[in-house]
Amino acid sequence: MSTFLKTICPRCKHHQTIFSRPSIIVKCAKCNHLLAKTSGGKARMHAKVQEVIKA
Ligand SMILES: [Zn+2]
Repeated sequence: MSTFLKTICPRCKHHQTIFSRPSIIVKCAKCNHLLAKTSGGKARMHAKVQEVIKA
């Protein structure tokens, strides 16, 4: 089972769904603001998580 996080960019309010365990850093597709960073296999969130989606 994979978990995805629905985030809102704190800078431009762009909604973006990201993988909960990203292999690299995740940036906003619109303004390039840092959304999440990997820390020991687990994502360290820099954006607000609106919803957790389990697929
Ligand atoms: Zn943004």
